[in-house]
Amino acid sequence: FAPWEDATEKPLIQFKGVTKKFGDFVAIDNLSLDIYQKEFFALLGPSGCGKTTMMRMLAGFEAPTHGTILLAGQDIAPVPPNKRAVNMMFQSYALFPHLSVWDNIAFGLRREGQDKDAIAARVEEMLRLTRLSKFAKRKPHQISGGQRQRVALARSLAKAPKLLLLDEPLGALDAKLRQDTQFELMDIQEKTGTTFVIVTHDQEEAMTVASRVAVMDEGRVIQVATPSVIYEAPETVYVADFIGDVNIIQGRASQDADKVRIDWAEGQPPIIGTTQKTFSPSQTCHFAIRPEKVAISTEQPEAPNVLQGRVIDIAYLGNLSTYHVELPDGTMMKAQTANTRRLSRRDITWEDNVWLSFTDTAGVLLER
Ligand code: ATP
Repeated sequence: FAPWEDATEKPLIQFKGVTKKFGDFVAIDNLSLDIYQKEFFALLGPSGCGKTTMMRMLAGFEAPTHGTILLAGQDIAPVPPNKRAVNMMFQSYALFPHLSVWDNIAFGLRREGQDKDAIAARVEEMLRLTRLSKFAKRKPHQISGGQRQRVALARSLAKAPKLLLLDEPLGALDAKLRQDTQFELMDIQEKTGTTFVIVTHDQEEAMTVASRVAVMDEGRVIQVATPSVIYEAPETVYVADFIGDVNIIQGRASQDADKVRIDWAEGQPPIIGTTQKTFSPSQTCHFAIRPEKVAISTEQPEAPNVLQGRVIDIAYLGNLSTYHVELPDGTMMKAQTANTRRLSRRDITWEDNVWLSFTDTAGVLLER
């Protein structure tokens, strides 16, 4: 069992009906959310949806207007930021430029007045954990960006917080280093067993590192689930659209047992989907299907859903190609194929007439 599936497990963090207002503006709207010990939890959502505000309330830089936040069962409202078992790592890292890597990591421990041997032992442990032992004597400007990121992480973990908040922790790194560092971050999180809450604009990053993701919109949590559930079984069009690429076909539902028929455009065949939900007759219904679940072919295939169209654009991504196909009514659809062999001149190209096909279980049916 994952902790969030285990009814006996107590959450480490609980938001209970939390609202945060700035003047009349509601930044967080009656939000409830549980985060468990040892989770790597990601907050994902568009700019201004309230991610940073949630982090700042956890760290103690902001207080909720209504509602409570519990850490290990205790209301954190009366606890000042420096007394919370919470640490925040900023994108800028905020390392002290005049201090060595060693002294940067030791800084918080010294301020707490720990004894010298205990500090030294802890700093050495953190250096090993983040593979920085060789760089202990250097100053921040004498190490690489990726190494600076690890110093910031080592310093944030030195005091063994219960919760580490990471605000765009890899934002300053280039794409390749960012990917490697994601795996390192996951490894360090697992080794220390600290709960990590990360805010990132990069949805792929959230999907890579997180045990669970909360997709937010305008101060609310729309869906909380594992990355694969968010991707495969989004609950709303907003979530489907926010994570990855998706085709949405909107129409009117008519249901027969677990099959739903969607009538959606003049002259287009209806879409057939499968669902456990119930749609009332003529209810608005969306069929959401990922491009990689749509097959593309120059010959008419046999499938529950077949649509004819014309290729108007191809994005070649090396391992994948994405085809943009225009249907006769003007609807644009995307189909993605894996390039497992060398492409040849006989392959599908611009202006080709093609058939798109997919099974009734390849997409999800959504009410809104
Ligand atoms: P981004 O991804 O751009 O960092 P975010 O999801 O982290 O966005 P927040 O910084 O939490 O968003 O802000 C949420 C909303 O609250 C925004 O509309 C912002 O303008 C507003 N807000 C945040 N702090 C304040 C403040 N101190 N005074 C007034 N409004 C604020």
